[in-house]
Amino acid sequence: MYSIALDGPAGVGKSTIAKLLAERLNYVYVDTGALYRAIAVYFLDNGLNAESVSTSDDEVTVLLSQIEVEIRYIDENQHVFINDTDVTGRLRTEDVSKMASVSSALPKVRAKLLELQRDMAKKYNVIMDGRDIGTVVLPGATLKIFLTARPEVRAMRRYKQLLESGKLGDQTLEELTCEIEERDHRDSTRAIAPLKPAEDSVIIDSSELMMEEEVNLIISYLEKKIEG
Ligand code: C5P
Repeated sequence: MYSIALDGPAGVGKSTIAKLLAERLNYVYVDTGALYRAIAVYFLDNGLNAESVSTSDDEVTVLLSQIEVEIRYIDENQHVFINDTDVTGRLRTEDVSKMASVSSALPKVRAKLLELQRDMAKKYNVIMDGRDIGTVVLPGATLKIFLTARPEVRAMRRYKQLLESGKLGDQTLEELTCEIEERDHRDSTRAIAPLKPAEDSVIIDSSELMMEEEVNLIISYLEKKIEG
């Protein structure tokens, strides 16, 4: 099986690039952020909040023991199920982003999702996006890409994405920029599986690149890897 690990900070465009790559290569796209978000939904539904989650250790353990997380593909789109309930439509709110960012720093939460992610790569050729795919989840990935872009470029991309999908609400660009910087800081400074490029990854700064250019570049790296 072939696998592409695509890591990078929030708002860099990983999911858009990953979807295009999956189409071009006929690989399965695995959005691992959606798994952390799904667990965050369950935590929020059960009374935890982002401010207290890290201290409510016993409750986290109990809640995690109650859930089964599953990935299913419906019309080629990834859906995440928690105990047979599809929570996909609830993953993209700011509350969930915040909760996912905080709770994903807990080793128990990460452990819960590790095998599920690895199993996907055992069964399919995958393009998997996240924060620790190249460093922890798939250390033997065929190709590891670390995508970056300047923070203001990322905030603008996220702003446009939310605007176009009607999910912007009353957030301003400044608020989004702060939120993205806060999440990056939390993701890169956490003790376990921090956001950082794997030593053998290719780092691509996409600030000045068009999407098609990024996709073509990644495919050319993949071809080189596969041809050896
Ligand atoms: O990628 P996305 O923004 O959907 O991820 C939501 C949150 O889940 C991130 O802010 C990060 O804290 C966490 N995450 C993670 N490891 C991954 C994917 C996401 O810690 N592989």
